[in-house]
Amino acid sequence: MKLAALGEVMVELAPQASVDSGQGGKALLAQSYAGDTYNTAVYIARGGVDVSYVTLLGDDPYSEEVLTRLAGEGIDTSAIARLPGRCPGLYMIQNTPDGERYFTYWRGEAPARELFADATRREALAAYLQEMDCIYLSGITLAIMTPEARAELLTFLEGYRARGGRVAFDSNYRPRLWASADTARAAVAEFLQQTDMALLTFEDEQALWGDKRPGSCVKRNTGFGVSELVIKRGAEPVLLQFDGELSAIDVPRVSSVVDTTGAGDSFNAGYLAARLQGTSPEASIAAGNRCAARVIGHRGAIIPRAEYLAVEPEVEPG
Ligand code: ADP
Repeated sequence: MKLAALGEVMVELAPQASVDSGQGGKALLAQSYAGDTYNTAVYIARGGVDVSYVTLLGDDPYSEEVLTRLAGEGIDTSAIARLPGRCPGLYMIQNTPDGERYFTYWRGEAPARELFADATRREALAAYLQEMDCIYLSGITLAIMTPEARAELLTFLEGYRARGGRVAFDSNYRPRLWASADTARAAVAEFLQQTDMALLTFEDEQALWGDKRPGSCVKRNTGFGVSELVIKRGAEPVLLQFDGELSAIDVPRVSSVVDTTGAGDSFNAGYLAARLQGTSPEASIAAGNRCAARVIGHRGAIIPRAEYLAVEPEVEPG
């Protein structure tokens, strides 16, 4: 099994525990790298599945470091294009005392915005992606692309699925990345119609579609033809709609939530790594919960590899 994740990786600046913001002094920031699909790719690879990360980077030292880190995770970087004179986008995390997070971005000129835009590169990438068992992308991947590139990707996915490929999608709605909510809804709806596994966060669904209850979210997505639907709701039970049945799977309590950055992304990784290794959807949700539990006990999106692997993931075969 091999999965390709498509999207953007940014330079991350995360506040450290010792920051005393009341002093008006210097803030201590830890510099790392993150991005929704990148985070998921890293944790899927740590879960033992072959992964390729697909994006565009620049030719600066930060882009070099991203490639080094991906290679260090055993992730295939052969489909990453480099744009001369460019550098990755950047974001900063702010946390509330209960670990909830807020992000500020500087990413308008990021090279990843040119994903699927150039005809020659697109052709080579399409041939490469066709060999994958699963393609993973998100609403952020769609939001940063040009409308023309999005249309090309959609057409590619139609053919890819017709030839047996599987598509996994997380809507990850970030209003500021879209021209309007209508544009976002139209694009997300088109891609959900080409999605096999939808891994959605209820809060994002509410923001995008105005859902009052999860039932309307289930109805809309099954209407799009999604056959495997997972709805994440923070510490509330995860909902699963599969084989025509709706079930709720409890989320284990996490005693110290320090930063929920990457919670949904790492859940998706635990889920997909388990699913691609033949685990049932129910047991894969448990694997997703375990992966997220480890990540939210740590600041920043990516836990150091050694620390993460020190606890063996327990994935039960389905
Ligand atoms: P997102 O990061 O997309 O906002 P959620 O907040 O819904 O996603 O969280 C995704 C997953 O992370 C949940 O399904 C759960 O496994 C885990 N998680 C998030 N918040 C908590 C929490 N407070 N306690 C335990 N697990 C949590």
